[in-house]
Amino acid sequence: MNYYSEHINNLIEELERLPGIAAKTAQRLAFHIVNMPPEQVNALASAIRDAKEHTGHCRICGTLTDAEVCPICADPSRDHRQIMVVENSRDLAAYEKTQKYSGVYHVLQGAIAPLLGIGPDDIRLKELMQRLQGDVDEVIIATNSSLEGETTAMYISRLIKPTQIRVTRIASGVPVGGDLEYIDEVTLLRALEGRVEL
Ligand code: ZN
Repeated sequence: MNYYSEHINNLIEELERLPGIAAKTAQRLAFHIVNMPPEQVNALASAIRDAKEHTGHCRICGTLTDAEVCPICADPSRDHRQIMVVENSRDLAAYEKTQKYSGVYHVLQGAIAPLLGIGPDDIRLKELMQRLQGDVDEVIIATNSSLEGETTAMYISRLIKPTQIRVTRIASGVPVGGDLEYIDEVTLLRALEGRVEL
Protein backbone atom coordinates (compact mmCIF):
# COMPACT_ATOMS: atom_id res chain seq x y z
CA MET A 1 0.00 0.00 0.00
CA ASN A 2 1.32 3.37 -0.94
CA TYR A 3 0.74 5.73 1.96
CA TYR A 4 3.90 7.67 1.35
CA SER A 5 5.82 8.85 -1.64
CA GLU A 6 7.65 6.28 -3.70
CA HIS A 7 10.98 7.65 -2.48
CA ILE A 8 10.14 7.17 1.17
CA ASN A 9 8.81 3.70 0.45
CA ASN A 10 12.07 2.84 -1.29
CA LEU A 11 14.05 4.02 1.69
CA ILE A 12 11.86 2.03 4.09
CA GLU A 13 12.29 -1.08 1.94
CA GLU A 14 16.08 -0.73 1.83
CA LEU A 15 16.30 -0.22 5.58
CA GLU A 16 14.07 -3.23 6.21
CA ARG A 17 16.62 -5.45 4.48
CA LEU A 18 19.13 -4.73 7.25
CA PRO A 19 19.46 -7.28 10.06
CA GLY A 20 17.49 -6.47 13.17
CA ILE A 21 15.44 -3.76 11.47
CA ALA A 22 11.73 -4.57 11.61
CA ALA A 23 9.12 -2.78 9.50
CA LYS A 24 8.24 -0.30 12.24
CA THR A 25 11.86 0.59 12.92
CA ALA A 26 12.52 1.00 9.20
CA GLN A 27 9.64 3.43 8.99
CA ARG A 28 10.83 5.38 12.01
CA LEU A 29 14.38 5.58 10.63
CA ALA A 30 13.16 6.62 7.19
CA PHE A 31 11.09 9.47 8.63
CA HIS A 32 14.00 10.49 10.80
CA ILE A 33 16.37 10.52 7.83
CA VAL A 34 14.13 12.66 5.61
CA ASN A 35 13.83 15.14 8.44
CA MET A 36 17.57 15.37 9.00
CA PRO A 37 19.54 18.40 7.68
CA PRO A 38 20.83 17.71 4.14
CA GLU A 39 24.51 17.75 5.19
CA GLN A 40 23.88 15.07 7.81
CA VAL A 41 22.09 12.89 5.27
CA ASN A 42 25.02 13.33 2.87
CA ALA A 43 27.50 12.41 5.61
CA LEU A 44 25.54 9.22 6.36
CA ALA A 45 25.25 8.29 2.69
CA SER A 46 28.96 8.83 2.02
CA ALA A 47 29.99 7.01 5.19
CA ILE A 48 28.08 3.96 3.93
CA ARG A 49 29.53 4.25 0.42
CA ASP A 50 33.10 4.88 1.63
CA ALA A 51 33.02 2.00 4.09
CA LYS A 52 31.86 -0.33 1.33
CA GLU A 53 34.37 0.95 -1.21
CA HIS A 54 37.42 0.94 1.01
CA THR A 55 36.89 -2.17 3.06
CA GLY A 56 38.42 -5.45 2.08
CA HIS A 57 39.87 -8.46 3.86
CA CYS A 58 43.24 -8.67 5.55
CA ARG A 59 45.65 -10.65 3.38
CA ILE A 60 46.80 -12.63 6.42
CA CYS A 61 43.89 -13.20 8.81
CA GLY A 62 40.91 -12.39 6.58
CA THR A 63 39.25 -9.88 8.85
CA LEU A 64 37.52 -6.79 7.48
CA THR A 65 39.97 -3.94 7.12
CA ASP A 66 40.77 -1.00 4.87
CA ALA A 67 44.45 -1.90 4.65
CA GLU A 68 46.16 -4.81 2.91
CA VAL A 69 47.22 -6.11 6.31
CA CYS A 70 45.01 -5.35 9.31
CA PRO A 71 46.39 -3.46 12.35
CA ILE A 72 46.47 -6.64 14.47
CA CYS A 73 48.49 -8.67 11.95
CA ALA A 74 50.77 -5.67 11.42
CA ASP A 75 51.43 -5.23 15.16
CA PRO A 76 54.87 -6.61 16.11
CA SER A 77 53.98 -6.58 19.82
CA ARG A 78 51.30 -9.27 19.31
CA ASP A 79 52.19 -12.92 19.67
CA HIS A 80 52.12 -14.18 16.11
CA ARG A 81 52.71 -17.76 17.24
CA GLN A 82 49.30 -17.94 18.85
CA ILE A 83 46.36 -17.93 16.43
CA MET A 84 42.75 -17.72 17.52
CA VAL A 85 40.29 -19.05 14.95
CA VAL A 86 36.96 -17.20 14.88
CA GLU A 87 33.97 -17.35 12.55
CA ASN A 88 33.76 -13.67 11.65
CA SER A 89 35.12 -10.18 12.26
CA ARG A 90 32.45 -9.46 14.88
CA ASP A 91 33.78 -12.33 17.01
CA LEU A 92 37.29 -10.94 16.62
CA ALA A 93 36.02 -7.56 17.81
CA ALA A 94 34.40 -9.21 20.84
CA TYR A 95 37.74 -10.74 21.91
CA GLU A 96 39.61 -7.52 21.20
CA LYS A 97 37.27 -5.70 23.56
CA THR A 98 38.52 -7.85 26.45
CA GLN A 99 41.99 -6.32 25.85
CA LYS A 100 43.50 -9.48 27.32
CA TYR A 101 44.28 -11.49 24.23
CA SER A 102 47.68 -10.72 22.75
CA GLY A 103 47.86 -13.30 19.99
CA VAL A 104 46.59 -12.94 16.44
CA TYR A 105 43.46 -14.22 14.70
CA HIS A 106 42.26 -16.22 11.76
CA VAL A 107 38.80 -15.30 10.49
CA LEU A 108 37.04 -18.20 8.77
CA GLN A 109 34.28 -16.01 7.30
CA GLY A 110 31.72 -18.66 8.13
CA ALA A 111 31.32 -22.10 9.65
CA ILE A 112 30.77 -25.57 8.23
CA ALA A 113 27.04 -26.11 7.83
CA PRO A 114 26.26 -29.22 5.78
CA LEU A 115 22.52 -28.53 5.87
CA LEU A 116 23.11 -25.17 4.20
CA GLY A 117 25.57 -26.67 1.76
CA ILE A 118 28.54 -24.92 3.36
CA GLY A 119 31.49 -27.30 3.39
CA PRO A 120 35.13 -27.04 4.52
CA ASP A 121 36.15 -25.56 1.17
CA ASP A 122 33.72 -22.68 1.58
CA ILE A 123 35.44 -21.20 4.62
CA ARG A 124 39.04 -20.02 4.96
CA LEU A 125 40.56 -23.32 6.10
CA LYS A 126 43.09 -23.65 3.31
CA GLU A 127 44.47 -20.25 4.30
CA LEU A 128 44.68 -21.38 7.93
CA MET A 129 46.65 -24.50 7.02
CA GLN A 130 49.01 -22.36 4.97
CA ARG A 131 49.63 -20.11 7.96
CA LEU A 132 50.42 -23.13 10.10
CA GLN A 133 53.44 -23.89 7.94
CA GLY A 134 55.13 -20.95 9.63
CA ASP A 135 56.11 -20.74 13.31
CA VAL A 136 52.95 -21.42 15.30
CA ASP A 137 52.75 -22.69 18.89
CA GLU A 138 49.02 -22.84 19.45
CA VAL A 139 45.74 -22.66 17.60
CA ILE A 140 42.81 -21.63 19.79
CA ILE A 141 39.50 -22.63 18.25
CA ALA A 142 36.93 -20.02 19.23
CA THR A 143 34.09 -20.84 16.88
CA ASN A 144 30.58 -20.47 18.31
CA SER A 145 29.03 -23.21 20.43
CA SER A 146 26.28 -23.74 17.85
CA LEU A 147 26.08 -27.02 15.92
CA GLU A 148 27.94 -25.39 13.02
CA GLY A 149 30.60 -23.95 15.32
CA GLU A 150 31.19 -27.31 17.02
CA THR A 151 31.30 -29.16 13.70
CA THR A 152 33.85 -26.66 12.45
CA ALA A 153 35.93 -26.92 15.64
CA MET A 154 36.04 -30.72 15.36
CA TYR A 155 36.97 -30.58 11.70
CA ILE A 156 39.79 -28.09 12.33
CA SER A 157 41.22 -30.04 15.24
CA ARG A 158 41.37 -33.20 13.13
CA LEU A 159 43.06 -31.25 10.37
CA ILE A 160 45.71 -29.78 12.67
CA LYS A 161 46.43 -32.80 14.88
CA PRO A 162 48.97 -34.37 12.49
CA THR A 163 51.03 -31.14 12.49
CA GLN A 164 51.81 -31.55 16.24
CA ILE A 165 50.77 -27.94 16.83
CA ARG A 166 48.90 -27.46 20.12
CA VAL A 167 45.14 -27.16 19.49
CA THR A 168 42.80 -25.82 22.16
CA ARG A 169 39.10 -25.04 22.29
CA ILE A 170 37.63 -22.19 24.34
CA ALA A 171 35.79 -23.53 27.36
CA SER A 172 32.11 -24.12 27.18
CA GLY A 173 30.14 -21.90 29.47
CA VAL A 174 29.63 -19.77 26.45
CA PRO A 175 25.86 -20.24 26.01
CA VAL A 176 24.99 -22.83 23.40
CA GLY A 177 24.10 -21.24 20.10
CA GLY A 178 25.22 -17.91 21.47
CA ASP A 179 26.88 -15.57 19.04
CA LEU A 180 30.23 -14.65 20.56
CA GLU A 181 29.65 -10.95 20.01
CA TYR A 182 26.70 -10.89 22.43
CA ILE A 183 28.59 -12.48 25.28
CA ASP A 184 30.02 -10.19 27.91
CA GLU A 185 33.74 -9.72 28.25
CA VAL A 186 34.08 -11.54 31.56
CA THR A 187 32.45 -14.67 30.14
CA LEU A 188 34.66 -14.48 27.05
CA LEU A 189 37.80 -14.16 29.17
CA ARG A 190 36.77 -17.08 31.32
CA ALA A 191 36.16 -19.15 28.18
CA LEU A 192 39.60 -18.23 26.88
CA GLU A 193 41.45 -18.87 30.14
CA GLY A 194 39.63 -22.17 30.68
CA ARG A 195 40.39 -23.45 27.20
CA VAL A 196 40.99 -27.17 26.90
CA GLU A 197 43.37 -29.26 24.81
CA LEU A 198 41.80 -31.04 21.86
ZN1 ZN B 1 44.88 -9.47 9.80
